[in-house]
Amino acid sequence: TFNPPENIWFNGELMPWQNAQVHVLTHALHYGSSVFEGIRCYQTHNGPSFFRLREHIERLYLSAKIYRMQIPYSFNELVSACHEVVKSNLLENAYLRPVAFFGYGSIGVNPKHNPVEVSVAAFPWDSYLGNDSIEQGVDVCISSWNRVAPNTIPAAAKAGGNYLSSQLIVEEATRKGYIEGIALDVNGYISEGSGENVFVVKNNTLYTPPFTASILPGITRDTIMQLARGLGYDVQEQNMTREALYLADEAFMTGTAAEVVPIKSVDDMPVGSGSRGPVTQQLQEAFFGLFNGTTQDEQGWLEPVTTV
Ligand code: PMP
Repeated sequence: TFNPPENIWFNGELMPWQNAQVHVLTHALHYGSSVFEGIRCYQTHNGPSFFRLREHIERLYLSAKIYRMQIPYSFNELVSACHEVVKSNLLENAYLRPVAFFGYGSIGVNPKHNPVEVSVAAFPWDSYLGNDSIEQGVDVCISSWNRVAPNTIPAAAKAGGNYLSSQLIVEEATRKGYIEGIALDVNGYISEGSGENVFVVKNNTLYTPPFTASILPGITRDTIMQLARGLGYDVQEQNMTREALYLADEAFMTGTAAEVVPIKSVDDMPVGSGSRGPVTQQLQEAFFGLFNGTTQDEQGWLEPVTTV
């Protein structure tokens, strides 16, 4: 059960959680016309700190741009909203959910007479794929659903409507006893999980699908690519067929909510040894080390929550 925090930021101000309400004829409710982000804040030796906050807010504006949605707040206002909502709820480890959406106005599909409303929520959230997932890994299947085809619904926008595809993928996977599904793109190449990007390790090289494989350009994906290159690994963005997962030495998924999660089997076939592999573990240590201080934050990815 969800234990809501006290405050939420909605349309320019902090307010009690239960006061952030919309009408049932909100455009986004009928047509999926929202864009959103998922951001984590970690407790670090410098206090609670956002991870790559500015890249996430940047991606929110890029998602809005694709839909010609004008977010009525500046970049700095939304960054401040993230700080305020964590601070006012006295959170240390938190997940933030900024969302911008076409609100109540006309009921037609074209949202030109609908206001853009914006909210930022923050709340504690454990690792998305389960507390054991980080060490134990997860069993996944290849989804019977393909990811959205190019020039249909844009995969690069993190938009509400895209998550109808994600729902079909994860509902099918969990109904069949798996933790997550990995979808292929319309050409049959590996795309992504319902809420995670995918990596394969083969002969100490990392492979991950390119942007053209209908993926969300994940910020954790980018983080892992940079950390891996820093550790001396060759990282290739490359199309992969389904059997690349079956024949991988290791595989893992990345996402803000899921973090870095080993894949222990695909379609009931063990990946490599069938448990977390050494490259995955090394990359997890580099990733989580950013928050516990054992990895130096060379890129300035961490931004302490302001105390004033
Ligand atoms: N793909 C999809 C479909 C997602 O929902 C997410 C989570 N935002 C990701 C990939 C991973 O992206 P990120 O690392 O930026 O959270």
